[in-house]
Parts: sequence; C-alpha cells; structure tokens
Amino acid sequence: MSNKLNSGTICVQGGWKPENGQPRVLPIIQSTTFKYSSSEQMARLFDLEESGYFYTRLANPTNDAVAAKIAELEGGVAAILTSSGQAANFYAVFNICQSGDHFVCSSAIYGGTFNLFAVTMKKMGIDCTFISPNSTEEEIAAAFRPNTKLLFGETISNPSNDVLDIEKFAKVAHANGVPLIVDNTFATPINCRPFEWGADIVTHSTSKYMDGHATSVGGAIVDSGNFDWDAYADKFPGLTTPDESYHGLTYTKAFGKGAFITKATAQLMRDLGSIPSPHNSFLLNIGLETLHLRVPRHCENAQKVAEWLEKHPKVSWVNYAGLPGNKYYELARKQMPQGTCGVISFGLKGSREDAIEFMDKLRFIAIVTHVADARTCVLHPASHTHRQLTDEQLREAGVAPDLVRLSVGIEDIDDILNDLDQALAD
Ligand SMILES: *Cc1c(COP(=O)(O)O)cnc(C)c1O
Repeated sequence: MSNKLNSGTICVQGGWKPENGQPRVLPIIQSTTFKYSSSEQMARLFDLEESGYFYTRLANPTNDAVAAKIAELEGGVAAILTSSGQAANFYAVFNICQSGDHFVCSSAIYGGTFNLFAVTMKKMGIDCTFISPNSTEEEIAAAFRPNTKLLFGETISNPSNDVLDIEKFAKVAHANGVPLIVDNTFATPINCRPFEWGADIVTHSTSKYMDGHATSVGGAIVDSGNFDWDAYADKFPGLTTPDESYHGLTYTKAFGKGAFITKATAQLMRDLGSIPSPHNSFLLNIGLETLHLRVPRHCENAQKVAEWLEKHPKVSWVNYAGLPGNKYYELARKQMPQGTCGVISFGLKGSREDAIEFMDKLRFIAIVTHVADARTCVLHPASHTHRQLTDEQLREAGVAPDLVRLSVGIEDIDDILNDLDQALAD
C-alpha cells in the first residue's frame, strides 16, 4: 500500500500534523518574534545552520504549515506563501532573473501580471518577450535569447480562458536550459498538477479558489525540485554561486532540492518582505480544507451554464474549454480530465449598453471585481476594468467590447440559471 495520500485527504489533513496534546486545528501563531535563551543558538539560526523560527518576516509556523499543504497538493518539494498572487509571480521570476536578464511569457496572462512583467520589471532591467499561448515549439524557441532565464504561462488564463499546453512549453524551456513557471490559479491542483506535465515551478493567487470565500488576498510559490540549476550554473549565478549577503553560502550546495524556496525566503522575503499575516494563512487553510469539494461543483455548474448560454438566442459566443466546440477542448481533456474551472466568458448580441442592462437586471449574481469564489459574480471589462478604452482599443487589447466574464459559484444550479434567464428576458 502506498503512503501517498490523495488530494482530498491532503486538503483536509495536510500541513499541520499535531502531536500528542497539541491543538487539533492549525493554531494562529500571531507573533512577530520567537524567544531563545542562548545567543549562540540565535546566531546559528541567522546563519541558516539550524532551522527554527526567529522572525515572522522570514518564517512563521502557521504560514509554513499552509505552505506545506499547498506543496503536497502540487506534488512539490517546498513552498512559500506570499501576501498576494502579484508578490508570488514577482518573487518567482525575480528569484531567477536579475537586471540584464530576459524571459519569455505567454501573452494570455492575468492583466496584473502582464503589467508587472511588461512595465514594472522592465524598469528593473528585466525584459520580457510575450508570445501567443498557441505558438509552435519553433515560435516559442525563436523568442529565446542568450540571456533568457525562464519561460512563463498560466494553466488557464484569466480572463481569456486560454489553456496552456504545459508539455509543449516545458519541452522548449528544457531544450533551452531554463525552467518553466506556471501560474496554476484557475485550475488549482485539484484539476491540474503542472509538475506532472513538466513545469518546474508553480505559482498561485490563493485569493481565488484556494481561499474560495473571498476573505484574504494571498499567494504561493511551489518548487518541484526537478530543475537542475547546477547543470546550467552560468545562467543562474544567484542560486549556484556564493551569496555574500549570507556569508558566502551557495543555495544549491547547501540546500539541494530546497535551493529555490530557501533563496526566495532567505533573500527575497528578508529584503522585500511580502509575507502573509498568520491570521490570513489560517483563513486560507480553512478554504483549502474544502477545495476538493468546491472545485468539482464550480466545474459542474459552469459546464451547465456554458451549455445553457450557448443555446440562448441573445448570446453570440461562449468561451469555455469544457464545450466540445472550444479550440482547447481536447487539450483541456488531456491536462484536466476532471474539468477546468468555473470561469466562463461570453458575448451578448447588441451593444455595450445591452451588456450593462443584462448585468443590472441580475438579482443575486453580483457585479464584483473578483473571480473564483463561492458566489456567482459577473464583470464586464468594457464597463469596468477597461472602461476608459474605445471599442477599437478594447479589441486591440484582446478584450471584445461585448465580453462578459461570469465566475460561476457553488450555489444551486437551477437558481443560477433562473437568475441569468430573467436578466436576459425582454
Ligand atoms: C488574481 C490573479 C493574480 C494576482 O493575484 P492577487 O492575489 O490578486 O495579487 C495572478 N494570477 C492570476 C491567474 C490571477 O487570477
């Protein structure tokens, strides 16, 4: 019998493993600091010669337990929690790239990540080339330069619903001696485990399905431990040569498969400090305890809504990878046989005004700038996130003026369909 537990058990029991007499529930260790009686032991902790807690910016037991659960769910060797998904993606890239470096990224990614990579990281001297998620191996490889350090994509992109061919992207990354980082926020490890398809590092905005109740903004980075940094030591000096800010310690030599996450903790968290509060990690953990129940329900409801919308006379198009006519249907079935996610985008016949009228008529389906929580919600980029743009500019940005993003929740499906139905009625 294998000792490996399945996802449903890891969701409930992973991370915090209480010993005799300890709390059954993950405790919130809401303390900035930890007490030691000998100064010598404290010195060993600072030198990373001994493991132990000393300051919550570097490590905290509540945060660590939740990170361990997420690492186990993804099938990775180690993970770190961050204060947001934005921080997770920034740290994941900045842990590898420095000024003068370059990376390649699928253009079908979350708007916030796009801005981080295209504008803010550029100011730091790190260049990014965006390529279509549907690029061939040759097209991806053509974007590589001698100073390219990684390849990046989203399993299912927010909000365009493109599905990344992880196996293909991993193949090109590895042929060029760099790791593949995949943002797995929308699929979650319940539906897709990118490491099984060759990804090396996974990131999450835990603010979405993992939290699931829209209580806490947060992020996570998970390392598979599979990428051999030392095999391309010249490319990754930050991991493979002595870190003078840590007494000349070399991460790959000192920590082996734990090198990437240890560097992110010891260097980036130390200097940039985007840690989650232990209380938020406690809330995230409660969300994770039901992830394996909620995600299938989101998918089941979204599938029914997508099929219903597709037949509705007022709907011009529906983009959901669970629909047999979708261009990603086969790829989604291969990488995510149990379903994709609860987010659907669709277009309404007519003008921007018709979309606005539809949304204003909805009863319990709310208009919010969020996706992927238990409550069904809707957003119209042309009237909300992208409202300053003309129809023409919207199309250039890859957002159709009639695009409505619907995040299907876990309510009763008949009620969801009834609300949509009455809002679409004349
Ligand atoms: C929301 C989101 C992010 C950013 O996460 P925050 O927690 O809002 O900072 C990154 N990637 C994807 C795919 C997202 O949906």
